[in-house]
Amino acid sequence: MLQDLIALIFPQNCINCDQSLNSVEKFLCTPCKIDLPFTNDVHNPDNELLRKFSFEPKVKSASSYLYFHRGGVTQKLLHHLKYKGKKDLGVELGKWFAPSLRELPIDLVVPVPLHKSKLRKRTFNQSEQISIGISEVLNAEVKSDLAKRIIATETQTKKSKVQRWTNMENVYAKISEDLSGQSALVVDDVITTGATTGMLCQRLVEANVKEIHIVSIARGK
Ligand SMILES: [Zn+2]
Repeated sequence: MLQDLIALIFPQNCINCDQSLNSVEKFLCTPCKIDLPFTNDVHNPDNELLRKFSFEPKVKSASSYLYFHRGGVTQKLLHHLKYKGKKDLGVELGKWFAPSLRELPIDLVVPVPLHKSKLRKRTFNQSEQISIGISEVLNAEVKSDLAKRIIATETQTKKSKVQRWTNMENVYAKISEDLSGQSALVVDDVITTGATTGMLCQRLVEANVKEIHIVSIARGK
């Protein structure tokens, strides 16, 4: 009832088409939600995303929920999540994606961490919000502090590829916990090159994780 009242006082509009939402719709109207650019990665085990992580045999699956196009609905969703402070949208996206991940054997949900300087600026980690939504559906524990991000920079365009890789190696601190026998779901908002996600996977492997599954809300085509 309170939510209906809030909706009445502050009517919400669809992030994509600006139509007003009804009381059961969240962030997107039903037609826009149906029209989302789904990747179908979960039903295509040998997909492009998984190939980015083929260097690590413990990575057993990788899937993105949506394709990312410049100016498209996915970009709008992520923009509202990351830069307009819509924390709940992250949880909601996780809940939308999670039912298709039910077959995965998951013990831990590991959000890709933000460096503390970025976290301070944004006030929350968008991947953690997505993880919360996923874990509610999958009934698995969210482990946010497993691997701390210790290098903030991502833009090292002036450096050579080799230098960039050596810099990348220590993006995340070593994990002190022993993850033997556990299967981890690594959650990111967008995966482009997969380099930082890959570094996180290596830390999980060093901590004896049994297997890794990677998901993201978005990826390029
Ligand atoms: Zn709409």
